[in-house]
Amino acid sequence: MADIIVSDLVKTHPGGRRPATDHISLHIPDGEFLVLVGPSGCGKTTLLRMVAGLETPDAGTIHIRGRDVTHLSARQRNVSMVFQSYAIFPHMRVRANIGFGLMLHKVPKDEINRRVARAAELLNLTDVLDRHPAQLSGGQRQRVAVARAIAVDADVLLMDEPLSNLDALLRLQFRSELKKIVNQLGTTTIYVTHDQAEAMSLGDRVAVLRDGRIAQIGPPIEVYDRPADQFVGGFLGSPPMNFLPATVESGAGQARVLVGTQRLAAPGQLTGFAGRPVSVGIRAENINVSDTARDGALAAQVEVVEPTGSAVLLTVQLDGIQLKVQTPPSFATQPGKPVWLTIDPKHMRFYDPDTALALE
Ligand code: ATP
Repeated sequence: MADIIVSDLVKTHPGGRRPATDHISLHIPDGEFLVLVGPSGCGKTTLLRMVAGLETPDAGTIHIRGRDVTHLSARQRNVSMVFQSYAIFPHMRVRANIGFGLMLHKVPKDEINRRVARAAELLNLTDVLDRHPAQLSGGQRQRVAVARAIAVDADVLLMDEPLSNLDALLRLQFRSELKKIVNQLGTTTIYVTHDQAEAMSLGDRVAVLRDGRIAQIGPPIEVYDRPADQFVGGFLGSPPMNFLPATVESGAGQARVLVGTQRLAAPGQLTGFAGRPVSVGIRAENINVSDTARDGALAAQVEVVEPTGSAVLLTVQLDGIQLKVQTPPSFATQPGKPVWLTIDPKHMRFYDPDTALALE
């Protein structure tokens, strides 16, 4: 069982003003694909490199497969890493590049050939095994780097932005292939990216990092639907979650919030917060738009219309508050037109405007 347990990991780089990882704890079960995601500088790479054994923590421990590896070298950990830069050797043919880690481990030649052939097949490189890297496309080079990492059959696969050098189309294609391959292998994997869409699509779970801490960890849909704070809601999803400043209204019956000068039906559990200012989190796709007035709908005005092909993204103004709304492509409108918005209370999330933390 190649599970990974990270306990209370602290690391401040020399000259760093604050810790790159600040008491991070994680349990990654055997076979899980965990994605670390977050803005530049949040500590993703530092955490990954500590698990790899390329960086020493100031405090805390790392266990892999039940073994304390905190003070073991990278080679003693049985982990395999894929970097953003391909890190493949230009003077070696693809075959030797893929088999490189196995050679280092003094694996017998027949076994190397067998494992190289399997990795090449998984990554669709069988036809280019005798080429040099210069004779490959960028996408193929990155495949060689991944093939080399999986050929060693490590307990743990660590990947640091492995797709970021590829152009947008190739990146999308390779993303789903990578997911399929890692699923087939069943290797416990930690994958670092700053791309929220990549994180959502690849991870069994995603850990959103901010300033060296885990802001939230969970299955992608859970983190997307129920962000623990406004930072997570704003980071995951495109467009980011809308946050409407509002006040909870007191009174009996249906809970309501006041948004600008308008009232919006809210879920029942909010009645305990009567009189309090809240921030209402709502995803663009959970707002229904109509071009005719209706009871209980919020009146707004269209500012920008952006067709994306599969949908139309509207920027609307509601009593001075700007928000993003997603409509079906068939919805015809234009800047300056009035629209009416309805929101199912079950899609609303509530945040404390002072702490930005979820109120539920
Ligand atoms: P990116 O997406 O830009 O790679 P990241 O989330 O992976 O960012 P890290 O590279 O782990 O973040 O960096 C975390 C913090 O530690 C940043 O403030 C960074 O400037 C600092 N840092 C990282 N490596 C070093 C180093 N070798 N020396 C000094 N400071 C470092």
